[in-house]
Amino acid sequence: MKLEKWSDFPLGGNIKDPGNSIENDMSGWRSERPIIDLEKCVRCRICWTYCPEGAILELDKEYKTSSGRVYKVTYAVDYQHCKGCGICANECPVKAIQMVPEEVSIK
Ligand code: SF4
Ligand code: SF4
Repeated sequence: MKLEKWSDFPLGGNIKDPGNSIENDMSGWRSERPIIDLEKCVRCRICWTYCPEGAILELDKEYKTSSGRVYKVTYAVDYQHCKGCGICANECPVKAIQMVPEEVSIK
């Protein structure tokens, strides 16, 4: 593997190629990760609106709650791009998002 010299990097460390952020992996920044409780979630889309990384996914996937309510969309987290800032959990009006320590595995 060829090691880059400082002079090989663009000025200021900027990545100039458009659309490159899709390749970024933000998961290494996190100390906590958001977990969405799909039973509590009322599909208001506020977390999707506020997430600065576009890491809340609105999936075209039906979900039926244990009480029988059917939602046409499901919200999920893109953990490659989530940096764990907690804004989604803070903004969720029904407290359906919990921030859990990164080392706790997802069910
Ligand atoms: S923790 Fe921050 S980056 Fe991750 S999904 Fe929530 S708002 Fe987006
Ligand atoms: S803000 Fe809360 S209730 Fe609204 S879509 Fe996100 S998780 Fe669901």
